[in-house]
Amino acid sequence: MEKYQKMLLERMKETITRWNKAGTVTNKEIYRFFHSLKGTAASIDLSEIASLAEDVLEEIDESRTEDWEKSEWVVLIEPLQPFLTDDVPITNEVIEPISPTIKEERNNLILLVDDDFEMVTYLKEQLEQKGYLVMAAMTAAKALQIFYNQKPDCVIIDIYLPDKSGFHVLETILAKSHTFFIPTIIISAEKTKEKVIHSFKAGATDFLEKPIDIEELVVRIENRLRHKELISEAVLLDELTGAFNRKFFNIEIERQYYEFKRSNESFSLVLIDLDHFKNVNDTYGHLVGDNVLRDFANLTKKVKRQSDLLIRYGGEEFVLVLPRTNKKQAEIFVDRLRTSFADVIFKADGVEFQTTFSAGIVEINNDNYTIDEYIHYADLALYKAKELGRNTVVIFNEDEVQKEKEKVLHIGIIDDDNLVRHIVSDQLANVSIGDYALDIQSFREGESFFESDWHNQSGKFLLVLDGVMPRMDGLEVLQKIKKHRNERNIIVLMLTGRKGENDIAKALEMGADDYLTKPFSIVELVARVKRLLLRMTKE
Ligand code: GH3
Ligand code: MG
Ligand code: MG
Repeated sequence: MEKYQKMLLERMKETITRWNKAGTVTNKEIYRFFHSLKGTAASIDLSEIASLAEDVLEEIDESRTEDWEKSEWVVLIEPLQPFLTDDVPITNEVIEPISPTIKEERNNLILLVDDDFEMVTYLKEQLEQKGYLVMAAMTAAKALQIFYNQKPDCVIIDIYLPDKSGFHVLETILAKSHTFFIPTIIISAEKTKEKVIHSFKAGATDFLEKPIDIEELVVRIENRLRHKELISEAVLLDELTGAFNRKFFNIEIERQYYEFKRSNESFSLVLIDLDHFKNVNDTYGHLVGDNVLRDFANLTKKVKRQSDLLIRYGGEEFVLVLPRTNKKQAEIFVDRLRTSFADVIFKADGVEFQTTFSAGIVEINNDNYTIDEYIHYADLALYKAKELGRNTVVIFNEDEVQKEKEKVLHIGIIDDDNLVRHIVSDQLANVSIGDYALDIQSFREGESFFESDWHNQSGKFLLVLDGVMPRMDGLEVLQKIKKHRNERNIIVLMLTGRKGENDIAKALEMGADDYLTKPFSIVELVARVKRLLLRMTKE
């Protein structure tokens, strides 16, 4: 305690020396000085100073605009004079020894936001003795930075911060902390109804008045943290696998991206999809399938670093977020995971089987692209891995990004009718859509379309798809293409020969964006295609 008392007295002396040199002092500075004195002094057993400061605060008007002349402010500090001599008897209490060893191990990180240096160091030391990890921020800007960087488990905020934008930034923290259920404890030198209401309205979980009773603070923190853990488990984890869920991913990926933009430290995103998983279910049943998913998650959790995040993205699809990892490092890690997983022997009704996954990797290293674009790139790489025969890891090729940005619209015509293919591609060749180049390609049927690499390029696609074809039905093609490509970048116009409303309904349900019933006039088709292309260029 003595250490902090000395620090506080030193600061008082320094401030007053500074005032002496300056002569006049702004009202803001006077007010802040006594305000922080009141809050801190009481917490470190200098209650006499605290009550003197409190008396002074009652005298001064916070909204006063004129500066204070020296003749005026010396009156204010007069009562503090006895403490400003060099031989102050600091305390007559028994000074508690500060134990160098941490008594309990708690791994929780607390972010402490207070502009009062003594208060910060005092609280930090006290909480660290209780086993918490404490990071301190003395400005709102720094607080926000730590908040995003370190994702604390609990935030303690002094309402009164120096930067004027402070409260705004803190409100940002509060808004964000809610999504992760991070408790926010407000501390303040005075507990006015207005401040309490403001704090709770902004979303604070708790309000504590200075002087701070450490014991009370610690139980409050503990209480809130227990609560946080229970809720997080219930809301952000996938029940089957214990991986994070998609809701968590959506929030977390924004944070990671923000952090990348700030620090310019790239990270990798991996999309993982189990191979032929439908077969596992079909052969051994869904319960066995569930076990495979669970085992995959457990294996991954065992080998990943603590900061790597595993998310169940959907059914048998997972995402790995690997901080501070470039694509090459990511590939090494994912490939090791791939072989370990492929080696796992599962048993179902006495039968042994093995299974594999495919993965697509993208390195996030350029803020010209959005997170959605990056996810799409990882998806393209995953698709390529499947095409290469599965049980494969593919890194997204960055040349594709450039192509993606080029102004090309890809138009695919899939129809078994030779005549239709010719007429449609000839007619479309003369169409012009702004300054986009059109890349028109036709295919005899679904299989040759999927066999070709054409549809694997990045960019925007319009497919004119015949609903009835001999080998692979248009609806099957539609289903397959919609499953593997980013919905945003593909538009499908179905040509349906069947007049039945059911078929049209089915096509729309499966994701067709538009349809034309055969026989249609070529003029009508071209007009329709043109309209769809224009719509694609608008996004
Ligand atoms: P591919 O190699 O192309 O990815 O083939 P696949 O069979 O894995 O792909 P598809 O997307 O056709 O099948 C995914 C299957 O995953 C279908 C679905 O029944 C199954 N699945 C999704 N969620 C779960 C789950 O929670 N438990 C179980 N047992 N199966 C699931
Ligand atoms: Mg899948
Ligand atoms: Mg799969």
